[in-house]
Amino acid sequence: MNELEPRFSKSDTLYPDYRLAGELEAFGPFNTQACFQCCKCTNGCPVTFAMDLYPDQVIRLVLIGQRKAVLSCHTIWVCSACKTCTTRCPNEVKITELMDCLKELAIQDGVPCPQPQILTLHETFLDNIKKRGRLFEVSFLPSYLLRSGEFTRKWRQGRWQADAKLGLQMIRKGKFSPFPKRIRGTQDVRRILSPSRREKNSS
Ligand code: SF4
Ligand code: SF4
Repeated sequence: MNELEPRFSKSDTLYPDYRLAGELEAFGPFNTQACFQCCKCTNGCPVTFAMDLYPDQVIRLVLIGQRKAVLSCHTIWVCSACKTCTTRCPNEVKITELMDCLKELAIQDGVPCPQPQILTLHETFLDNIKKRGRLFEVSFLPSYLLRSGEFTRKWRQGRWQADAKLGLQMIRKGKFSPFPKRIRGTQDVRRILSPSRREKNSS
């Protein structure tokens, strides 16, 4: 089996979880029921080369209750949230937003992530946002490098200086600020991102 092929077990296909679409819609609406499989989303997606399921297939599998296949696929993690699919969809299916929600559901269900580096990036990003209500790149990037083990790898290869140099250049050119900024509704952002709230909404 190709490493990127989605895994379908016999019991999952025999006993589909038809509650899946409804469970996801509680976080939406994503309008998945409106999908008529025209594939415009997939045809515009810039990262299908790295996907094991195409975006239109993800929608279809959600609708036919293939919970395990959807929550364990690479696609939900390699999606770059560029929104091309959502923009192109003639039926206003919110595919990008659904991909994000599927990530959270996979974490909540304890499904092993097939892209651990991306999971670390995702968690580091959300932790950073929770602190100030907005991203602070100067702490986000080092946190990600340390948590993912990338820093150790780069240190061993003698490549960390290149990252530090690039970071300083970006600060000098005003690409990001060296000082953290906070928004007024930080508490609200924390509440929105808290897992207990997501679980409560889904129950
Ligand atoms: S573009 Fe919209 S309607 Fe067409 S396959 Fe994708 S989600 Fe379905
Ligand atoms: S948002 Fe994700 S699925 Fe949609 S086009 Fe971009 S990368 Fe592809």
